[in-house]
Amino acid sequence: MELTLIGTGTCSPVKDRTPACYFLRVGTSRIIIDPGPGAVSRIAHRGLDPMDVDAIFLSHHHLDHSADVAPWLFSYKYCLGPNSAGSDQPRRDPLIVAPEGFRKIYDGLLDVYGSMMLSDDYKVQIEEVNRTEWEWPGGLSFRSIPMLHFIPSVGYLFKKPDGPALAYSGDTGFCEELVELAAMADALLVECSLPDERRMEGHMTPSDVARVGMESGVGKLILTHFYPMMDPRAAVETIRAAGYSGEIIAGEDGMVVGI
Ligand SMILES: [Zn+2]
Ligand SMILES: [Zn+2]
Repeated sequence: MELTLIGTGTCSPVKDRTPACYFLRVGTSRIIIDPGPGAVSRIAHRGLDPMDVDAIFLSHHHLDHSADVAPWLFSYKYCLGPNSAGSDQPRRDPLIVAPEGFRKIYDGLLDVYGSMMLSDDYKVQIEEVNRTEWEWPGGLSFRSIPMLHFIPSVGYLFKKPDGPALAYSGDTGFCEELVELAAMADALLVECSLPDERRMEGHMTPSDVARVGMESGVGKLILTHFYPMMDPRAAVETIRAAGYSGEIIAGEDGMVVGI
């Protein structure tokens, strides 16, 4: 598994950190996780093809995690290149996996943009998930578990048969469900939004991350979703000082992590 951190920031605009987006390669499968604003061009900027993917997974519908769904569908229809409608390559039906409420948002986007997002060449597939498990042809398996955020939100587990598994928290506060998810994974991509002294419900602090790491026993933490007041190095120090002994990676935009 190869995880590219496209965006490790939030809705707060800062110079060197862009909003949420991750690109996961597992064997021949390609997955976009949380296409926040600008994700389509930011993925291309990292040398990856945002159009050549098997699915888009959304953790929740806050715009810093989902704003580029419409631009992605627009590009999928009109872009020129190996995946363009004019090429010989057949167009795959795009799959969007998201928590409850996405279908309503999608219908609203269709009301506004209509045929700009639709084509006779393929059909957009939508899966609304809650506590859901399923397998893809090729053996990749997925699991979603509801998290603790302001709106319906899920964390995901991406697993290769007899291979590694990656868990992703999406946005969440500390909850037993996140511990449950992380306990099944080799690595946890986890939000670390705010320092302990600026704690906010629905988000994680370094102490919360340490607790999840230790209670789940997950061997690797990949920290992401830093608000500007969260110094990533300080986050790593706090997690270490709390007693977590596994590997800790402070995510940066463009970082590639093997799992
Ligand atoms: Zn967020
Ligand atoms: Zn959020």
